[in-house]
Amino acid sequence: MSAHSNMSNPITPELIQDLQKFTDAQALIGEIFRRFGERAAIGTSGQLTGVVMIDLAFRSGAKPRVFTIDTLRLFPETYELFDALEKKYGFKIERLQPDPVKLKNMVQEQGEYLFFDSKQKQEFCCNLRKVEPNERVLETLDVWLTGLRADQSAARAATGKFEIISTGSQKRPILKVAPLVDWTEQRLREYAKEHGVPTHKLLDWKQEGWYYESLGCVICTTPIGPNESRRAGRWRWFNSEDNKECGLHTFHKDEV
Ligand code: SF4
Repeated sequence: MSAHSNMSNPITPELIQDLQKFTDAQALIGEIFRRFGERAAIGTSGQLTGVVMIDLAFRSGAKPRVFTIDTLRLFPETYELFDALEKKYGFKIERLQPDPVKLKNMVQEQGEYLFFDSKQKQEFCCNLRKVEPNERVLETLDVWLTGLRADQSAARAATGKFEIISTGSQKRPILKVAPLVDWTEQRLREYAKEHGVPTHKLLDWKQEGWYYESLGCVICTTPIGPNESRRAGRWRWFNSEDNKECGLHTFHKDEV
């Protein structure tokens, strides 16, 4: 038995049953922060769900912990958004960055643009810049609030609101919650407008039917065309739909 498994584990099926009673997203988010405090956090990359969750959390009376994975290759508009959110709500977003030594080695040995070379190298880069920093923050959490939505891609259509995942070498269970899983893009946009929530400028960019659906690193994220799937803008030089997840939401295949 690991040290963690000997400690009382707050993540139980009963907890999910309890939280399922909160069908309203604001009430659910508020309840999670009331129960878990700093052991809960909203993770956001600047998408509409993230900013709306932050607003809902503040409206619930909570002082939410919010983090982002700063790959150091984000769009300038993403950093602008984080600054605008911090200003509006008077708080700090934790910016988890890649390990500086590993990053330096990777760039020296494989170049800044290794992700063009192969799927394997792209995954190596994503792992170092995103997955590792994400794992680091998950070590400090019992509840991870994510902005996953059911309509984002076929792979995400099965996304439930509550999922117990395991994290770290000790496979500690944590609860991953997607409070806005059923919200449509239109509903999110209407909410943001109505409540004056800062949104990502690139999400308003449109040109002849092309627009940004997902926001990630520069170069790796491009706009999508009128007849493309929602995540088609990622890593365009790899053309299989199966290759579109960066690892943040797929590496926990061994759920408890
Ligand atoms: Fe690297 Fe591109 Fe992944 Fe960003 S999206 S971590 S630059 S491969």
